[in-house]
Amino acid sequence: MSQREWIEKDFYKELGVSSNASADEIKKAYRKLAASLHPDKNPGDTKAEERFKAVSEANAVLSDPAKRKEYDETRRLFAGGGGGGFGRGGGFTPGGGGGFSADFNIGDIFGGGGGGDGGLGDILGGLFNRGGGGRPQAAQRPRRGSDVETETTLGFREAVQGVTLPLRMTSPAACTTCHGSGAKPGTSPRVCPRCNGTGIISRNQGAFGFSEPCDDCRGTGSIIDDPCTDCHGTGIQNRTRTITVRVPPGVSDGQRIRLPGQGEAGLRGAPSGDLYVTVHVTNDKVFGRQGDDLTVVLPVSYAELVLGATVSVPTLEGRVGVKIPPGTADGRILRVKGRGVPKRSGGAGDLLVTVKVAVPQKLDDNATQALKQYVEAERASGFDPRAGWAGA
Ligand SMILES: [Zn+2]
Ligand SMILES: [Zn+2]
Repeated sequence: MSQREWIEKDFYKELGVSSNASADEIKKAYRKLAASLHPDKNPGDTKAEERFKAVSEANAVLSDPAKRKEYDETRRLFAGGGGGGFGRGGGFTPGGGGGFSADFNIGDIFGGGGGGDGGLGDILGGLFNRGGGGRPQAAQRPRRGSDVETETTLGFREAVQGVTLPLRMTSPAACTTCHGSGAKPGTSPRVCPRCNGTGIISRNQGAFGFSEPCDDCRGTGSIIDDPCTDCHGTGIQNRTRTITVRVPPGVSDGQRIRLPGQGEAGLRGAPSGDLYVTVHVTNDKVFGRQGDDLTVVLPVSYAELVLGATVSVPTLEGRVGVKIPPGTADGRILRVKGRGVPKRSGGAGDLLVTVKVAVPQKLDDNATQALKQYVEAERASGFDPRAGWAGA
């Protein structure tokens, strides 16, 4: 079944339940209806038979949680553009493996508004030229909306920890007045009689036959007698939308997120295209990133490396004490398990702490004196910093 049919059919109404009915309520309602409408009980009653089919169809979708979700989403997208409110769930659902994009789902649309005749000519031009080139395509009837690309910039920590952000954009969307059909509410488009809904007519010229887009319906296959006044029959409005996008933890710079159904509206009720959001991530003053690991450079004193120490180190969630073993070499990387970037598979990467000696630029007399003494003691103990060095 196509999304188009889903948009037109109210399965909840068919079963006489509310759109937030529980699985149990749906099951009960279906059983009751199916029993009373069953063809065996209503021989020769075509109306009952039709209702029986419709009820079965509704149940097939609503009784399957995955299908129901998809159905709700589809209808919400087309019918709910104008209303809606913030915080109606949505968000992405972690899926099992598979492509990155498949795991993202749309959040919510609110706002809407805007509209107007903006680039109407452009939209029309674009739509009708696109089939161009070779033979005209019947696909100029209901056609899926184009995919839309956009970009957003996230802070380093937002990208690591995940963030919910509003994304504002202006793009053609399904007209809220006619829900994308292009026909005035209460009317519907009729099949073009000239081309029988194919959008294509054949013309013979001498020995040759030509196919070309039907003039009467401009290749759409349907005729709208009463065009919707808000979108002039295109089913499309330019709308400024704000979608709430939930970016999961761990996205990296340059990554592209797919939001199904949030692209350009389809023509005449066809499904919308997808929205692709390319994420840019700013740098952080403290942390760097290597895949799932976070990196940080920890300034230490020479003495701390020689004698060993426990030093407080920042993580994305508070500080941790990192133990520097005695005799640690400058530049060594210490690993703090599980304090890195959250992984999609669960768990998190590590925090890699690089120790780096901070050399004092100035010492007072006491410290200088002590250090000179130390140098002598060190020499006496037999330490040669260049022992074993190839350049010695
Ligand atoms: Zn309209
Ligand atoms: Zn036609």
